[in-house]
Amino acid sequence: MTHKIVILGGGTGGTIMANRLRRVYDPTEAEITVIDENDSHVYQPGLLFVPFGLTHPEDIVRPRQRQLHDDITFTLCPIDRVDKSANEVHLNDGAVVPYDVLIIATGATVLPDETEGLTGPGWMEKVFTFYTLPGAAALEGALARFDGGRLVVNVVDMPIKCPVAPLEFAFLADWYFHDRGIRDDVEITYVTPLDGAFTKPVAAQTLGGLLTEKGIELVTEFNTGEVDGAAGKLISYDGREVPFDLAAVIPLHGGSEYVGRSPELGDELNFVPADNATLQSEAAPNIFVIGDASNLPASKAGSVTHFEGEVLTENVRRFLAGQELDASYDGHANCFIETGFKKALLIDFNYETEPLPGHFPGSAGPMPLLKESRLNHLGKLMFQWFYWHALLPGRDMPGIKADMPAGGKHRPEA
Ligand SMILES: Cc1cc2nc3c(=O)[nH]c(=O)nc-3n(C[C@H](O)[C@H](O)[C@H](O)COP(=O)(O)OP(=O)(O)OC[C@H]3O[C@@H](n4cnc5c(N)ncnc54)[C@H](O)[C@@H]3O)c2cc1C
Repeated sequence: MTHKIVILGGGTGGTIMANRLRRVYDPTEAEITVIDENDSHVYQPGLLFVPFGLTHPEDIVRPRQRQLHDDITFTLCPIDRVDKSANEVHLNDGAVVPYDVLIIATGATVLPDETEGLTGPGWMEKVFTFYTLPGAAALEGALARFDGGRLVVNVVDMPIKCPVAPLEFAFLADWYFHDRGIRDDVEITYVTPLDGAFTKPVAAQTLGGLLTEKGIELVTEFNTGEVDGAAGKLISYDGREVPFDLAAVIPLHGGSEYVGRSPELGDELNFVPADNATLQSEAAPNIFVIGDASNLPASKAGSVTHFEGEVLTENVRRFLAGQELDASYDGHANCFIETGFKKALLIDFNYETEPLPGHFPGSAGPMPLLKESRLNHLGKLMFQWFYWHALLPGRDMPGIKADMPAGGKHRPEA
């Protein structure tokens, strides 16, 4: 019997899963179909660098279909809904795609219209988001024209993709204005709904210290209720105001809209509830989730998606073979944090262990954790090559496994 495996979304997770599963099954054993609404695969970590002219939109986009191995069917069409009771996916063009196993990899999307005023007067003139390609490209022009005043970086609400990217933006802005010789003329303010610079206490302390060192003001517990682009101010639900001349805003995120049209598939934000360790959805045993589309308490990051891919490939195989699932995904995440001036930090953590100082991978590893270094910056730059040539093709990364390395980390004394 030929299994029908359907993968919704041809981004990081969908491509990894299709290519890994193609290695597990030959085409007579499984038909693998990837469905996406467009054929432009954006290397999203590159969006951080576009506003500063450090990379260009054309350097971070490739055709989706070309990232898929032979004998994988690519269908270009928006998804309308999933009918889990019939094991079918309905597409916008009326086509109905049956499945034995469904993998949801439709990611997270930004919802700027959900915040009052955000897309009103000033949007794409002095209020931008670098979380989309057009936004990042437009922000490059705005930063180049900016010759002094108040720059605000604002996270509207959690969860967001790559929770460290807004901090990286603030650090790079500090470097960028230094480089242009106008740093003294620019006030940079980082405005977050969290009670510190980051979610986890040890990293929050290190990253908060770096903000202070770089003269970036930190405003915490600010829940943005409105963005008044005309007057140039953020207004919180409790009436506090933060003025700006230029704002880089990270809007509220949600899952893809079709999830809301699919009975009993998603939560109120259209994320798909799933088992933290097996990635099997709560909706049905033959529906699995990978990457940003899930409601797992893991980071929404490409590294998480990659590590999940190892466990999920095994679980799809086990499910189709009628075996017990592998409950081994531990929430492992691994992120470089660009801090400007050709340096970066590295954090490595999972559900249980917060980011700690030390070395990676393991105590003899060359990369310092939670500490700025040139090597980490080079790692961040090299990651783009690994993304296209190792991650997406579904190869394992040498020395880096799905489960977090326990060694090489130490908890600083209080
Ligand atoms: C600015 C920025 C910086 C980042 N930096 C890093 C970093 O340094 N390190 C890191 O690990 N991660 C980083 N990330 C996060 C990383 O890019 C994502 O976590 C990762 O791409 C998630 O993969 P995914 O497959 O879940 O979603 P995606 O790769 O976003 O793929 C989702 C796919 O689903 C498709 N889709 C959605 N809805 C539909 C529909 N209705 N019909 C058809 N197709 C649909 C979309 O077109 C898309 O192709 C960053 C993200 C951003 C935005």
